[in-house]
Amino acid sequence: MNLHEYQGKGLLKSYGVAIQEGKVADTAAGAVEAAKQLNSETGTEWFVVKAQIHAGGRGKGTVTETGSHGVVLAKGLDKVEDIANGILGGHLVTAQTSATGKKVNKVLIAQDVYYPGDEEPEEYYMSVLMNRETGRNIIMYSTEGGMDIEAVAENTPHLIFKEEIDPKIGLQGFQARRIAFNLGLSGQAFKQMVKFVYSLYAAYEGIDASMFEINPVLKTSDSKIIAVDSKVSVDESALYRHKDIAEMRDTTEEDPVELEASEAGLNYVNLDGNVGCMVNGAGLAMATMDIIKLSGGEPANFLDVGGTADAERVEKAFRMILKDPNVKAILINIFGGIVRCDRVAQGVVDAYKNIGEIPVPIIVRLQGTNAEEAKQIIDASGLNVKSAVLLKEAAAKVSEVLA
Ligand code: GDP
Ligand code: MN
Repeated sequence: MNLHEYQGKGLLKSYGVAIQEGKVADTAAGAVEAAKQLNSETGTEWFVVKAQIHAGGRGKGTVTETGSHGVVLAKGLDKVEDIANGILGGHLVTAQTSATGKKVNKVLIAQDVYYPGDEEPEEYYMSVLMNRETGRNIIMYSTEGGMDIEAVAENTPHLIFKEEIDPKIGLQGFQARRIAFNLGLSGQAFKQMVKFVYSLYAAYEGIDASMFEINPVLKTSDSKIIAVDSKVSVDESALYRHKDIAEMRDTTEEDPVELEASEAGLNYVNLDGNVGCMVNGAGLAMATMDIIKLSGGEPANFLDVGGTADAERVEKAFRMILKDPNVKAILINIFGGIVRCDRVAQGVVDAYKNIGEIPVPIIVRLQGTNAEEAKQIIDASGLNVKSAVLLKEAAAKVSEVLA
């Protein structure tokens, strides 16, 4: 689950990470109020107005309706209202969004931490994530912050460093110092960076995060180390023990069909193709998508109905797939191990009858326990459902109905 910048910063701060302070607002008047409060708390007279959407690249992004960027510096309290009006309610298009962009419902009013006259603020990159090859967390960091890290990885990979953490002993002091050293720091800034890294990693473990990306981490001319941006993803499987974080979920940022699926306990990812898939097991779902491609179709979705493909789940899955107007055929591929194929077949027939007419052909391939009985149930149902026992056969039937 992804969080907004302001939510991520709030969590980081609670672990002692120094952040660019800010307040969130959902109206221009609220933005002015937030700026006033921020001024009285921090003394700042310049502010940064930052669109809160689940996508990066906001600084260079453009609000379609107004032409404003997604991160704008307000050089004075009197500038905040107009700038907030240029961002709120519009659609922000960035390198990480679709062409239609994302609607901006909130802005973060943050203190300007790039002091006027501070000629060379240093911007670093820092992320924390799992190295899947070793199964250990790593802190990845670079002197080349503030810009697109993919470009740094492409052009100057030697400027990206990694520190791997042993889960038995946690982040060690020498590792935090090595990070500060590799970033070229000394004196007060060195100390601040060590503290920053420690608290950042404590936050990562404490909230059961799956990814942190802080770009940029800023060094001010008076040697403060500050998180200016925050991209925080939390492990959904651990949300049960973080009720406060679970409540931060912003469902307006999520694909409505995927949201409905997750509420129904189905793993669903929307794709661009024309063949809907309903499969039990993620691996089989991937293989099914490959087979669809080989037979000349394109998968419309990834859908894992899980181990208990009963009538109720099958019906939910059907309804989900049918919301996509691009779907021209549905391929159901179930391997009956624990689940019996004849029960799934009955589930398909029942779901079909409950939904009424399903406007696209359905190919069902059931293999494993009671596959033959399952085929008989499908064939005898009189519905617009074709059955297959072999995957090859199912693929041939898909290309037949698409032709
Ligand atoms: P992103 O574009 O979505 O990654 O959003 P960021 O939070 O990283 O902000 C984009 C850019 O805005 C940063 O790289 C900074 O250069 C700039 N920026 C952010 N905060 C401030 C600030 O306090 N003062 C000034 N002058 N610029 C800022
Ligand atoms: Mn950023």
